[in-house]
Amino acid sequence: MSRLYALIEAGGTKFVVAVARSQDEILRVERIPTTSPGDTLAQTMAFFQNAGAEFGAFDTAGIGSFGPVDVDRHSPTWGYITSTPKPGWNGVDVAGAIGGALGCPVGFDTDVNGAALAEARWGASQGASVSTYVTVGTGIGGGVVIDGQPLHGARHPEMGHVRPERHPRDHDFHGVCPFHGACLEGLASGPAIMARWGATLSDLPGDHDAHEIVAFYLGQFVVMQQGLLAPDRIVFGGGVLAVEGLIPRIRAASSMLANGYYGLDRAGYDDLIRAPGLGDRSGLLGGLVLAEAALMAL
Ligand code: ZN
Repeated sequence: MSRLYALIEAGGTKFVVAVARSQDEILRVERIPTTSPGDTLAQTMAFFQNAGAEFGAFDTAGIGSFGPVDVDRHSPTWGYITSTPKPGWNGVDVAGAIGGALGCPVGFDTDVNGAALAEARWGASQGASVSTYVTVGTGIGGGVVIDGQPLHGARHPEMGHVRPERHPRDHDFHGVCPFHGACLEGLASGPAIMARWGATLSDLPGDHDAHEIVAFYLGQFVVMQQGLLAPDRIVFGGGVLAVEGLIPRIRAASSMLANGYYGLDRAGYDDLIRAPGLGDRSGLLGGLVLAEAALMAL
């Protein structure tokens, strides 16, 4: 019998939990709203206990979590959510709770490092030696995979908090990031779009300036990554990126801003910048890569 995996994509608004035997064989999936840690984790455990009764004991578990999180295996708070502004979640030991309840090894990383791992393994970043996965939704975050390994250093990257140059027609808005105001997340996330224009990007007409302005910021982000990390592939996911026409606008903005410096012509940006190959499953399948890594580390 093949291995049984417990997978968790722990998001700030919902937990997606699943039982799988492989990336192609997901036996059961459920969505649990992220409320208090006690309630959310209790519902998560109940899901896995019910599934365990039907399918048997779990061999390993993988968690891609919203953050910030502690990803240092040698730290006493490894697997904890750390300095999140989300009420109640600061200092919650997510990995310990799951590992304790399931009695199996646990792999743990950021949700975006998880998604980047899954896209590199099975999705749009296959074959890339350096790839990033960026989500643009309630917040903006990015994960990086280099030769199959997620990027960690002093901690994990917090790519959404870099500060882009302001668009010439967007100087008055202060930005919504509670820490930095007009960082990338403060200017181009879903809440920033709503605060500025009173509607989601998908509800604004295609010729509204918002599309151009958001693409200008995300294009700068692409060019920053080219300068800092030289990725072969940049995958954009998340709710805001589902807006029709946004990815082509980001490609055009990136090409214009890079001005040919990185050896890519306009068509080269079609290849560099992609939608997720795994649709909305990148984060969940990231859990599978992390779960496998936890078994290998034994
Ligand atoms: Zn910020």
